[in-house]
Amino acid sequence: MKRLLVLALLSLVICLSVRAQRLPDTVTPESYDLSFTPDLTKATFAGSETIRVQLLKPTSTVTLNAAELEFQEASITAGGTTQSATYAFDAEKEQVTLTVAKQMPAGPAEIRTTFTGILNDKLRGFYLSKSERRNYAVTQFENTDARRAFPSFDEPAFKAVFNITLVIDKGDIAISNGKIISDTPGPGEGKHTVKFSPSPKMSSYLVAMLVGDFVCREGGADGIPIRVCSLPEKKEMTGFALEASENILKFYNKYYAIKYPYGKLDHIVFPDFAAGAMENVAAITYRDVELLVDDKSASYDAKQQVASVIAHEMAHQWFGDLVTMQWWNDIWLNEGFATWMAWKPLEAWKPEWNMQQQEIGETLAALGADSLPSVRTIRANAETPADIAALFDGIAYGKAGAVLRMVEAYVGPEVFQKGVNAYLEKHKYANATAEDFWNQITQTSGKPVDKIMKSFTEQPGAPLITVKNECEGNKTEVTLKQERYVSDAAKMAARNDEIWPVPVNLLPSATKQPVYHLLTKKEDAFELPGCSAWVYANASGRGYYRSAYNPAEFAKLSADVESALSPEERVRVPSDAWALVRVGRMQIGDYLNLLQSMQSERSREVVQSMIGHIPQIHDKFVSAADRPAFEKWVRDFLRPIAADLGERPVAGEPAERQALRGDVFAMLAKYGRDPELVEKARATTAQYMKDPQSVSPDLAGKALTISAMNGDTALYDDFVAHLKTAKTPEEYGFYLQALGFFPQAELAKRTFDLVLGPDVKNQDLYALYFPFANYQTQTEAWELFKADFPTILKKVDAPDAVSLAQVAGAFCDAGLRDDSQKFFAQQNLPGTKRILQNAQDRVNACIQVRDLQQKNLAAYLER
Ligand SMILES: [Zn+2]
Repeated sequence: MKRLLVLALLSLVICLSVRAQRLPDTVTPESYDLSFTPDLTKATFAGSETIRVQLLKPTSTVTLNAAELEFQEASITAGGTTQSATYAFDAEKEQVTLTVAKQMPAGPAEIRTTFTGILNDKLRGFYLSKSERRNYAVTQFENTDARRAFPSFDEPAFKAVFNITLVIDKGDIAISNGKIISDTPGPGEGKHTVKFSPSPKMSSYLVAMLVGDFVCREGGADGIPIRVCSLPEKKEMTGFALEASENILKFYNKYYAIKYPYGKLDHIVFPDFAAGAMENVAAITYRDVELLVDDKSASYDAKQQVASVIAHEMAHQWFGDLVTMQWWNDIWLNEGFATWMAWKPLEAWKPEWNMQQQEIGETLAALGADSLPSVRTIRANAETPADIAALFDGIAYGKAGAVLRMVEAYVGPEVFQKGVNAYLEKHKYANATAEDFWNQITQTSGKPVDKIMKSFTEQPGAPLITVKNECEGNKTEVTLKQERYVSDAAKMAARNDEIWPVPVNLLPSATKQPVYHLLTKKEDAFELPGCSAWVYANASGRGYYRSAYNPAEFAKLSADVESALSPEERVRVPSDAWALVRVGRMQIGDYLNLLQSMQSERSREVVQSMIGHIPQIHDKFVSAADRPAFEKWVRDFLRPIAADLGERPVAGEPAERQALRGDVFAMLAKYGRDPELVEKARATTAQYMKDPQSVSPDLAGKALTISAMNGDTALYDDFVAHLKTAKTPEEYGFYLQALGFFPQAELAKRTFDLVLGPDVKNQDLYALYFPFANYQTQTEAWELFKADFPTILKKVDAPDAVSLAQVAGAFCDAGLRDDSQKFFAQQNLPGTKRILQNAQDRVNACIQVRDLQQKNLAAYLER
């Protein structure tokens, strides 16, 4: 599954307070025959089911998962006898227990049930999706919602074959995991019956069923038919997705020893989708913004986002679908792998996108998330749906992906690929654990990958490696020291017991040849050949650790950054420096000087790393009195870069440079308050509202936000009107985001009312986050959030109770911290304990950086 970044913050909420609820392991399913008749007008469905199981011991009861279903009848056949069964639901455990009068012998049995259910509006289970024209029936089952569509052994280790039949209205089509093997008229007038080929052995959370007037754009790769299916009125925006999918499939078929195993591949996009996308076997589903782009008007970033999400979901067809984690505690075996893998096909297909540099940005984001004192480990226990939902976070995706990236670089990409393929071959159509994976890579590589991965998987946080180097004759004495990096200076100083085996990739200035040193102790000293002025600690940029240097050596390294380091290495320099600023080990003035010394940098990822913390400094760390001086610093720093980039694209210029122009332009206008650029943003905004096609898409969204930051009620009204008539998901997203950035408190209230009203879909509730991200309306947003909380809860309903509580981490203020913690404690949302702790850490860290650096910043700006 793919979670959107902002979406992860606010998308989903609440369920019953449920406790440990695993099914007994004495009954195992082999296959399901499922037939559904959905009624799209009445929003109901009727189902019938036969499950072939093995009873591992004699019994008179069978327990399955089921929720919100009504049974009409149930029976079990075993040992040649059919008995009708009574059924007892346990709503809290989301289970039903069938009981027969006479004990059944061990061996094969068949469970038959008929049942009815509701096509709900909660975006999970079998649910209703609505366009302006009509209704659709669609599914979303991960993590624990197949049980809302049919009685099932709804745990990932209970893999089985699914034989699905859908009885649907004439004129509609149906899509599922298999190919259509028959499509016959009836039963009755106005219906037809669509039967799908048996699925491969797979987990219940990967079943998909979709019904409606979808139209499909058809293509293929390596003999596999590929379709991108959408509402008819959206078909013109599916061409790019099809092209991306074809190229990605060709790449994966080369990378994996097992060719794409499912015979066909469909991508389906429809309204009302809670996650970003979902990797159902051979029937991947998407929210509109993650799949639909207008090839002519889409921005550089929008196309990359669509291609990245498709690559992520397609990577899951192997990691997750073919080989599935044994239990949700190892969800990173799905999400970490898909996150790590998704860059590769795009690097091959679009080398000009420089994905290998963006990959390092992902490692840095993960290190940021992993720096909280209360952060969880990659592998974490989870029993209830709420606990399981809480695991879909930056640790399961970003950290797990980043650790894999480090290990791959350490053992070498070819060796890693061999190990991955051996692992997939061994566990295909079955389940695996983390040990299965790292033992395989250890065996293939002959390196201690098991020890490395175990420590990074089962220990929270990441190390900071401090490098010292001293030249003696023609040798360099290197000392490496490790400690856990925590974004809280006091807590970092107080603890010192963690040790990771870290493959440190060193780049000494004398030889410029990267060399690995496996650091297994707190501190280690050794010699390298040649006399080095500096030894850079993260050659290739792929290590999952921070690094620090002595000031004198860092000064020498800084002077050589541009000439001696690759973009993947350079991108880390400002980021690691910022980590030191946060804990008071570097003065913020030295950090700003470092940025200035990198002014000639033009790689977009590196520039983004350089300017990435300017918003935080501007909004949270600088005092109100010093803010104008900081804005002037931003102008002085960025104007030369902007001038060099020029105002308009030059013919033949790479798209990356155009996108970079937009980044620098936005930063100058937003945080440099450059009056000339604010005026230009206004003009661009007016032009965009008149004719979206006439404005560079890389500038449009940014111009709208800048205009909002300087805008009034009349402009707000214009944006609302344009939101309602937006033609593409990207255009819609631009307006929705911009609405959150007006400075007036009363407009924040209007944004809340709009998002919680009928004009904005439940799937877009994340828009409530923007007024929190806007420092001028943050306090107001919090008051609105509290007042509207009952409405927010009604709009969302999923076991992901966790997400809403993340709002408590948006502040940099003790009063708001305490109030938000108290508020969420009173709500008692299941699964939120760790999220609230993380949020508290985040606010405390912010307050601490401000206390540590605000005076230094003032002194620096006064120079
Ligand atoms: Zn995923």
